Amino acid sequence: MKQIYLDHASTTPVRPEVLDAMMPYFAEEFGNPSSIYPLGQTASDAVAEARATLASILGATPREVFFTSGGTEADNWAIKGFAHANCAKGKHIITSAIEHHAVLHTCEALEREGFEVTYLPVDEHGIVHPDTLKAALRPDTILVSVMFANNEIGTIEPIAELAALTHEHGAVFHTDAVQAFAHEPIDVNEFGIDMLSASAHKIYGPKGVGLLYVRKGIKVANLLDGGQQERGKRGTTENVPGIVGFAKAAQLAWAELTPEHDRQLALRDHAIKRILAEIPHAKLNGSWESRLANNVNFSFEFIEGEGMLLQLAARGICVSSGSACTSGSLDPSHVLLAIGLPHEIAHGSLRLTLGRNTTKEDVDFAIDSLAATLNNLRMMSPLYEDFKQGSVESVIERFAADGFPYTN
Ligand SMILES: *Cc1c(COP(=O)(O)O)cnc(C)c1O
Repeated sequence: MKQIYLDHASTTPVRPEVLDAMMPYFAEEFGNPSSIYPLGQTASDAVAEARATLASILGATPREVFFTSGGTEADNWAIKGFAHANCAKGKHIITSAIEHHAVLHTCEALEREGFEVTYLPVDEHGIVHPDTLKAALRPDTILVSVMFANNEIGTIEPIAELAALTHEHGAVFHTDAVQAFAHEPIDVNEFGIDMLSASAHKIYGPKGVGLLYVRKGIKVANLLDGGQQERGKRGTTENVPGIVGFAKAAQLAWAELTPEHDRQLALRDHAIKRILAEIPHAKLNGSWESRLANNVNFSFEFIEGEGMLLQLAARGICVSSGSACTSGSLDPSHVLLAIGLPHEIAHGSLRLTLGRNTTKEDVDFAIDSLAATLNNLRMMSPLYEDFKQGSVESVIERFAADGFPYTN
């Protein structure tokens, strides 16, 4: 059966060009970059070139780019490393309620150490309003961390405004840009970003490698005490093939950024319009205007997310739900709750994230399958029966009556 992969926010396949670029560094060019003989120097040069490529894409200098084992490590390092190196100036950190767990759980760990954390609320589209940040900033605020774009609902945050407010208060601004790096143009100076996290496997690079950008002059505690790698801040032998693959993936994504962004955005809008036109009791989650080009996230009423995922999987369609049921918990995602969805519709949520190999035929096939699946599930749903009998009300109809756009 043909597999239609629509879960690119979760991970992406390694591009063949990326694999080709990585291959020599596993065996022939296996040297340790810290060794002075030619084999070591070849590896060292490859790491230096990769660092320069990634820095130039960010508008940064190579000395400001530190390699990590992924986005999670970059988030941990940025937030814990900054907090530990700067706690004499204050112990207050601000983040948002819709961050990835790599940021939220890091902040919770710091709370257990005695730091104070404010979790900013978002509006119904998932936007962090600059006014709420302004109200939360305090003289002892040292760090603000707000994601560039949300991994579940695709909302792109007003980063330049949030960073500017942070700087007016003398604090430092970090962004988890894992979903946006090499998908959106991000120049750290234009946006006023002081620290940024990115990951290779979200941009057709290998898993297990990422980066943390740290603006010159900002102090961050060491992540790993060891050798002199990463300027003594993360002492471990470099993941040379991974680093080379990361840079190659970023370079390829950068070269095709605008046409690929626009192509996916047109497909995304086609998907959103079709769902709104053809599937009843559906609500688009997140902002339509300020949204990643590859993200489609809907809630469907009278539907239980796991049943929907299983039926779609049986039809060869790989997508994600908006609840954490698969990870052993029955709670809907913190992001969907933060944008104000009641539990009953948050449970019936679906995320489709498009990629560079996604075609219009794939999208149409997925939506045809989705429509059939929802129809089947609703026919079997006692809740839907109650709704048709008039004994329960529709939450989404109430959203629509309240003037919420993008509902059917
Ligand atoms: C995937 C993701 C991460 C984690 O990145 P890893 O490289 O898998 O550790 C962090 N933040 C966001 C927003 C993500 O989408």
